[in-house]
Amino acid sequence: MSFECETRPIARKDYRCEWCGTSINKGTKHIKNVSKYEDFCSYRMHIECDDEFTETTTDPRCWELMTIPDIRTFFEENKGEVM
Ligand SMILES: [Zn+2]
Repeated sequence: MSFECETRPIARKDYRCEWCGTSINKGTKHIKNVSKYEDFCSYRMHIECDDEFTETTTDPRCWELMTIPDIRTFFEENKGEVM
């Protein structure tokens, strides 16, 4: 069974943002996404980073990419084009 669940919790400790790689400080409201398709996967991001991520992943070319770091690299390399 596949599912995807996104919540916006307050960080109870410091986490790392999967998108920009900087820390999500304790007490910060952020995005937590848990999904299970073929594999179980979860990530946390800053709310503003999630907005950027969501915009980027509406690009159909991103669906061929496997991981968030791949998508981020793609986004950085194609910033002028994608935006
Ligand atoms: Zn971030």
